[in-house]
Amino acid sequence: MPDPNGFLRYDRRLPARRPVPVRIMDWREVYPPAGEELIREQATRCMDCGIPFCHDGCPLGNRIPDWNDLVRTGNWDAAVESLHATNNFPEFTGRLCPAPCEAACVLGLGGQQPVTIKQVEVEIADAAVARGGLRPRPVPPPTGRSVAVVGSGPAGLAAAQQLARAGHAVTVYERDDALGGLLRYGIPDFKLEKRHIDRRLAQLAAEGVRFRAGVNVGVDVTAEQLRAEHDAVLLACGALAGRDAPETPGRALRGVHQAMEHLVAANRVVAAAGEGRPALAVLPDGTPIDAAGRHVVIIGGGDTAADCLGVAHRQGAAGVHQLDLYPQPPRGRDEARDPWPTWPWILREYPAHEEGGERVFAVAVQEFVDDGTGAVRAVRVAEVTVEKRNGRRIVTPLPGTERELPADLVLLAIGFDGTEEQPLLGQLGVVRNARGAVDARPDWRTGVDGVFVAGDMHRGASLIVWAIAEGRAAAAAIHAYLGGTGSLPAPVDPAAQPLAAR
Ligand SMILES: Cc1cc2nc3c(=O)[nH]c(=O)nc-3n(C[C@H](O)[C@H](O)[C@H](O)COP(=O)(O)OP(=O)(O)OC[C@H]3O[C@@H](n4cnc5c(N)ncnc54)[C@H](O)[C@@H]3O)c2cc1C
Ligand code: SF4
Repeated sequence: MPDPNGFLRYDRRLPARRPVPVRIMDWREVYPPAGEELIREQATRCMDCGIPFCHDGCPLGNRIPDWNDLVRTGNWDAAVESLHATNNFPEFTGRLCPAPCEAACVLGLGGQQPVTIKQVEVEIADAAVARGGLRPRPVPPPTGRSVAVVGSGPAGLAAAQQLARAGHAVTVYERDDALGGLLRYGIPDFKLEKRHIDRRLAQLAAEGVRFRAGVNVGVDVTAEQLRAEHDAVLLACGALAGRDAPETPGRALRGVHQAMEHLVAANRVVAAAGEGRPALAVLPDGTPIDAAGRHVVIIGGGDTAADCLGVAHRQGAAGVHQLDLYPQPPRGRDEARDPWPTWPWILREYPAHEEGGERVFAVAVQEFVDDGTGAVRAVRVAEVTVEKRNGRRIVTPLPGTERELPADLVLLAIGFDGTEEQPLLGQLGVVRNARGAVDARPDWRTGVDGVFVAGDMHRGASLIVWAIAEGRAAAAAIHAYLGGTGSLPAPVDPAAQPLAAR
């Protein structure tokens, strides 16, 4: 029986982050492991409210009150089991999820701070490792059916694990030299150390999943070959078409880059160092891209921008400005605009923000300024108002507010325009919709028989928790398509959306 008064006895507390001066000297995770006492105390704040809206906030339908109570009572093995019943990779979501479940926690209804659900989740995930709970599951007899998964991000890997555990022969194809999708070279180590991915990959491999890294499907292997070898294909290629600003004067100057160019180069250096290989942060053509000693301007306000900020400080930037088009959000939920339990528009402060840099709100770039040699020396910004008219965003500069910010490295972190146009799509006859995504029918099939889609490729740039949920659901659909016995869990359907006020 959960403690109904736990939240009255204990305030919400998170473990202390590693001190800023220490952590910006390395690439290790910002959070050290929390003590068991703290986590059990915080799990006690969950009152098992009866109608747990956190379930609806979490796309995976994680059984949060169940595992909170198991942690409260120190029943870690059962907590590990309960968590893995709905989530293939809680060590990823526990570290990286923005936790829409916490925004939907019933404690928030009474003005209390929500349970630290995400922190409890990561501690259970780490307990699984410590207790040998990531041992491969026994493999069932082979069904004789085979599935190709294209893309090794969380959507592809979740689907692969579900399908392998149902007895299908699964091969994951990945064009990068290493597996993990955006978790590998997109998200920096200070948010997710790569040993967590490697450990899961070992589990999947032991459960029978085959991996083929360094294979660009559509180029190195044709869609025709893929279809000849497999009974079904799951496309989980992500939404990696970076949005650009081609109309902004000066975009072609040296030193103006897509954020992902910077992140991938930096993360590859960290990966090489882990293997004892010295490396420089360079673009694929060998051009250096490093924030050391530079004035950096990051354009954008989301996860990608915050990751660039953390990387810039670790590389030794001289100074960083992070620009946001929108005004500074309030610190607390505006109930009229975003009533509980929806995801509120509030100021999001990532650990990277306490490491330095200046955030500038309600500004838009007017020009990237040339230093006279074809390289950027400044960004000219103006204060702006932003309004929506007939579904369109209207940005209006305020006269007399223009100013220059010093910049010799500019990073565009302004979002993604869906999945990339690539030979594979044409070979399969799969088309992108107006958002650049690939539509799925209610059974996760694209318009092409035997070809399914999941994750960011279907949803547009989103979150890891949605990618895992879609991967699991698409696996269930593929299992049914292949005539598999019984059914697999399907936490979402292709039309599922985050909680919203109607
Ligand atoms: C910088 C950054 C930081 C982020 N931080 C967070 C965060 O903190 N929390 C969070 O929840 N979400 C975060 N996200 C979003 C999250 O990473 C994505 O939503 C998630 O990774 C999507 O998973 P996916 O499996 O659909 O695709 P991806 O992870 O994008 O993986 C797709 C894979 O498909 C491969 N591929 C594509 N085409 C082919 C082909 N033809 N052949 C073979 N392989 C192919 C790609 O190389 C890629 O590895 C972040 C995103 C970015 C860019
Ligand atoms: S996956 Fe995200 S939304 Fe679901 S319980 Fe974990 S932190 Fe909450």
